[in-house]
Amino acid sequence: MYDIAIIGAGPAGASAAMFTAKAGKKTALVDDDKGITRRAWIENHYPLEGVTGTDLVERGLRQAARLGAQLVRGTVEQVERRTAGEPGFVLRLADGTTLEAGTLLLATGVNTELAKRMGVPTKPASEPRIKEVVEVDSQGRTPLEGVWAAGVVAGTSVHTIVTAGDGARVAINWLSQLAGQRYVQHDAIQKPEKQSV
Ligand SMILES: Cc1cc2nc3c(=O)[nH]c(=O)nc-3n(C[C@H](O)[C@H](O)[C@H](O)COP(=O)(O)OP(=O)(O)OC[C@H]3O[C@@H](n4cnc5c(N)ncnc54)[C@H](O)[C@@H]3O)c2cc1C
Repeated sequence: MYDIAIIGAGPAGASAAMFTAKAGKKTALVDDDKGITRRAWIENHYPLEGVTGTDLVERGLRQAARLGAQLVRGTVEQVERRTAGEPGFVLRLADGTTLEAGTLLLATGVNTELAKRMGVPTKPASEPRIKEVVEVDSQGRTPLEGVWAAGVVAGTSVHTIVTAGDGARVAINWLSQLAGQRYVQHDAIQKPEKQSV
């Protein structure tokens, strides 16, 4: 059983998976590679000097995997709660595989079909060229217990630096909720060891 299953491995989902996996949470990153980002040529993603959407997505997948996230290729078609009273969810993929997770993070971009099938409330979007988004509170929680959302599907501005940032923000909020205090994930440059003469 995974601690968290993140559905969608675009900038929002892969960024979230980097934080949850690096925090030691068993993370499944499930994706069917039908996102919009691969069509982009991006010159406004600080501090990158011009990158293709495909390169950005591929780098994100590699980094999430290097930090311990389990990449799962496939379309999540159905999500049910685990059997009577047990917390968590069962994800059913189009190829028949299933996986279980304690928490879900939806990062499905412009696709709200799965969220609607799960009964996650949606609302009309305010961003240009986006039809609808799921309802979330300021932390990234949807009204469904245990289901969070980040990126375009959660109503953010449709820009990679924003969706990647939102994925990280929501992952940190989930980790903070688990820890019962604000969570910080910092690494520092290791000072070279003093050479004894
Ligand atoms: C032509 C074009 C040009 C753009 N140019 C720029 C630009 O210059 N600068 C900029 O900042 N942004 C640009 N963008 C926008 C940018 O690509 C998006 O804003 C963005 O980053 C979306 O991130 P996301 O992670 O929310 O969604 P996405 O990147 O769309 O990722 C969602 C992922 O979820 C997966 N998914 C959905 N449903 C399921 C399911 N049921 N099961 C499994 N997987 C699922 C999809 O396959 C996809 O991989 C552009 C977009 C387009 C289309």
